[in-house]
Amino acid sequence: CKLSLATLDEARKTAAVPAYSRADLSAGIVHFGVGNFHRAHQAVYLDDLFNTGADHDFAIIGAGVLPSDAVMREKLAAQDFLTTVVEQDNNRTGARVTGPMIDILTVGDTKAIIDTLADPKIRIVSMTITEGGYFIDASGSFNPQHPAIAEDGRHPSSPKTVFGLIVAGLKARRDKGLQPFTVMSCDNIPHNGKVTKNAVVGLAALSDPAFANWIGENVAFPNSMVDRITPATGERERNIARDDFGIEDNWPVFCEEFKQWVMEDNFPAGRPALEKAGVQFVKDVAPYEHMKIRILNGGHAAIAYPAALLDIHFVHEAMEHPLIRAFLAKLENEEIIPVIPPVPDTNLADYFALIERRFLNPKIGDTIPRLAQDGSNRQPKFILPSTADRLARGEDIVGLSLVSALWCRYFQGTSDSGKEIAFNDASAERLHAAAIKAKDDPMAFLVFDDIFGEVAESELFRKRFAHALKTLWQDGTVKTLKLYLDDKL
Ligand code: NAD
Repeated sequence: CKLSLATLDEARKTAAVPAYSRADLSAGIVHFGVGNFHRAHQAVYLDDLFNTGADHDFAIIGAGVLPSDAVMREKLAAQDFLTTVVEQDNNRTGARVTGPMIDILTVGDTKAIIDTLADPKIRIVSMTITEGGYFIDASGSFNPQHPAIAEDGRHPSSPKTVFGLIVAGLKARRDKGLQPFTVMSCDNIPHNGKVTKNAVVGLAALSDPAFANWIGENVAFPNSMVDRITPATGERERNIARDDFGIEDNWPVFCEEFKQWVMEDNFPAGRPALEKAGVQFVKDVAPYEHMKIRILNGGHAAIAYPAALLDIHFVHEAMEHPLIRAFLAKLENEEIIPVIPPVPDTNLADYFALIERRFLNPKIGDTIPRLAQDGSNRQPKFILPSTADRLARGEDIVGLSLVSALWCRYFQGTSDSGKEIAFNDASAERLHAAAIKAKDDPMAFLVFDDIFGEVAESELFRKRFAHALKTLWQDGTVKTLKLYLDDKL
């Protein structure tokens, strides 16, 4: 059946459907960036909570600022904002239709978005706008000179960025004497709450420093760690939803069974009782996010490039390749995990074993191109901080430099077998040009201060990187990985 509120009874034959009715729900959250991850994670937790009968006044209104958000709005509006979520484990595949989203605002309708943000019913503004969406440089600082931010700073009442809209929404609330909403980032960024606060306060300061101070003192930005592997949706996913579950969904979401959400309990305007749906509320989320970003996201960022260079398409296939699997294990055990501070109630070796199993899951169809995209934002957040930590301790970085060298080799643009690589990265042009030069002059790739920061100034890193890159060019990916595994790189 074609998914809609009217066909839920039919969908019930093959999928779990909401136990609540749409009429029971009212808005409490505005979410920017209605992509796949939001619908596999936050929306699923809320769906679980709403199924218990609780907190029906925390339904989601979607919002966005990009043309792709307008496309998503059209696709989801045609199915009453319902989403089919297919959860796949090694042993189980199940589909559920989730319904906590009740609307998506028209992209570009600034007035409607600000009016909604200023509605007293809205108590949380959340976002998944990707690592690149926060206007931060390699040091993690907010960049107020970015043209989009400077533009919103000059025209605060007609904002175009998510942060400009949030500033305008907060101002409208303050003018009405309303309590501010809580701003909840759900992106994979270290200290995501703090980074979001810096962006909102930093942008507000461009036009109204006193109001920026007010935001700094009065608005909560809880940090969180979010986790659930959620590949992009394509024809394959639409076909499985239709053929296996009988549901025609314009944009279904596929994900693994595992999910985790650890968050600081800092919601002065109130929040849904998400702990009833499995969210862990903790005093300090830093150890959890540190562990997840370095081990899981760092792991993804490490295997993406050797796999791409060996023409491997799926993540589980990369993990089935003995050299790539062993490369990941050695890198994590010898270089990444030893510089991770202890995490409450967590054994890091067990955590990594779980991650290996999750990466090996053959069902979810996560792809190497997805992991390889956006490296210019991901390497500085997921890999290079581990490199910097080890250098600061005077420890070696053979494996981590190899990751950087593999990334550089990838950006030359062809795999070891000579197949062309399609990049998906905002910085692709400059990285590609530098990677070509780096074949003869490896240092040409380390000139990007916004990516490599201080790491590029380390003699040891420069030496290791140059040697790894030279070996990759001379001997290829397979031989280089073998040398690394034999401690001969
Ligand atoms: P997606 O491509 O499906 O959606 C991305 C969303 O971000 C879209 O709505 C897009 O319009 C918006 N966006 C992108 N750049 C933006 C910008 N500059 N300003 C405003 N909005 C912008 O991707 P996804 O799978 O939903 O992942 C989004 C983010 O969620 C990731 O970058 C990551 O931080 C987090 N996350 C994803 C996963 C996963 O497995 N997919 C897991 C954990 C966390």
